[in-house]
Amino acid sequence: MSITCSHCKARPAFFLRRYSGEALCKNCFIVNFEKRVYRTIKKHELITWGDKVLAAVSGGKDSLVLLHLLAKLRKKLKFELIAITVDEGVRGYRSRGIELAQNEARKLGIEHFVVSFKDAYGFTLDEIVEIAQKRGIELHPCSFCGILRRRLINETALKVGANKVATAHNLDDEAQTVVINLIRGDLLKVVRLGVKPPISHEKFVPRIKPLRYTPENEIAVYAMLKRIELYDVECPYIRLAMRDEIRNFLNELEEKHPGTKHSIVSSADKLVQELKATVVPKIQIKTCKICGMPSTREICRTCELFKQLGISKPSP
Ligand code: SF4
Ligand code: ZN
Ligand code: ZN
Repeated sequence: MSITCSHCKARPAFFLRRYSGEALCKNCFIVNFEKRVYRTIKKHELITWGDKVLAAVSGGKDSLVLLHLLAKLRKKLKFELIAITVDEGVRGYRSRGIELAQNEARKLGIEHFVVSFKDAYGFTLDEIVEIAQKRGIELHPCSFCGILRRRLINETALKVGANKVATAHNLDDEAQTVVINLIRGDLLKVVRLGVKPPISHEKFVPRIKPLRYTPENEIAVYAMLKRIELYDVECPYIRLAMRDEIRNFLNELEEKHPGTKHSIVSSADKLVQELKATVVPKIQIKTCKICGMPSTREICRTCELFKQLGISKPSP
């Protein structure tokens, strides 16, 4: 006997949300999915009238869904939307993603830029990883990648006059990041994690995360229902990362205890609220002595990285 949708009470259910007990038909799933993202944007004032939003699109399903949703909301919320894809330079990995991002942006009528580590920094990620190995630097490739990608996106946003950068971090990513930072004892990073940053600086374009409360499996279902083309090439460096272990661990927990990922993210949100009064005012934004960009340190992470690698970053 088929289950009836708990929303419309008419059509057969096709998706069971274990953490809430809802059974949804295809139609109600789409409506509810889009509403949740819209509510996140409105509740946290992620996008306001007249914003110029740069969407970071890797070409993976989450970022294509984000682009699709933002394109849909452009008129309603009256903002300008452009998109960027970063080519990190990982052999055999990113090219299909770039192609998909370009196709989707073209279909949706969104201006799209491709920027690369090679052009911006003079080295691909593969080359950087090789230099780091030769120099005995133990940092994980994903750490280089994250630092350099964030910097490049921020620089591009400043250049094109965007006042927000939208990223496709979903509930799973965010729960993993909370756990990783707690394991590392990095409370400052937990505070800076929220749906939008608690601190601002004229050279730092705020990052917003409209999918922060949306589970990854629901994004995959939405992408399938909307016939958004997917690719499943995995970055060769991902398996080396701690994040991969945490992902598997949280998936197991979620399976046994539905709602775990939501609880982790909402606990982090509550923590951020509590710490806003104590930790946030103590965060000092300095100017990097080398590149002049904002940083919580004397020398920013990008410049520190290049110093460690013994290479100089070409001027932007
Ligand atoms: Fe970069 Fe790591 Fe993602 Fe690969 S898995 S693209 S190295 S962050
Ligand atoms: Zn329904
Ligand atoms: Zn710097």
